[in-house]
Amino acid sequence: MLIKQQLLAALASGLLPISEAREDIIGFFSQLTSSSEERQPKAAQSADVDNAFGADSAFLLWIAEAVAGSRSAAEQCLIDARSISRERSGLFADWLAQWARSATLNQAIWHAHEEISAAARRYEQSRCPHGGHVAPTLDEIRELSELPPQELVHSLDPFVRTVALMRGVSHCALQDCAIRLGTTRSAVAVACCEFDRWKHSRMNASRDAATRQ
Ligand SMILES: [Zn+2]
Repeated sequence: MLIKQQLLAALASGLLPISEAREDIIGFFSQLTSSSEERQPKAAQSADVDNAFGADSAFLLWIAEAVAGSRSAAEQCLIDARSISRERSGLFADWLAQWARSATLNQAIWHAHEEISAAARRYEQSRCPHGGHVAPTLDEIRELSELPPQELVHSLDPFVRTVALMRGVSHCALQDCAIRLGTTRSAVAVACCEFDRWKHSRMNASRDAATRQ
């Protein structure tokens, strides 16, 4: 039953969107129907939490700075996310890398929520005429993290940055983003549109610079 408790705790916390937990849910129900004794998941200890945050600290700091807007705020978000995770029971060691990313992102959203909400309001009367903007993958966000976070901060407003990272890092659906950020699904869609527009122009600029060299 350890899997069930941990899965439900992660889903209830909002840190693990249902879309992301699909394989774990399938695994859980498969285990219910299995007569053999499968490997039991390992409950995370404080040291496991520290290792997960330490192993990916540069990327976690980048995520936090891209949302919170400053290095000092990002450092505090990372400290707080690790501290909250160390105190939390029911974490599953195999999920800690994803947990660390989502917990850090959540702390940064909490830190910057006023700026994010203010920026979101500017999108609530707009519409994306295209639809179907594909979420960035985690690998794409890692590639993006080769840019200084301040480039994103100066190019995109807090709402667009947050939506892009919620989708790419925590695999949130548009509706998940809207609920978490207290705005409309269509505002989130416009933020996706804005992020894609920036990403394509940034990639074209990089290609042009590479061609000139
Ligand atoms: Zn669009």
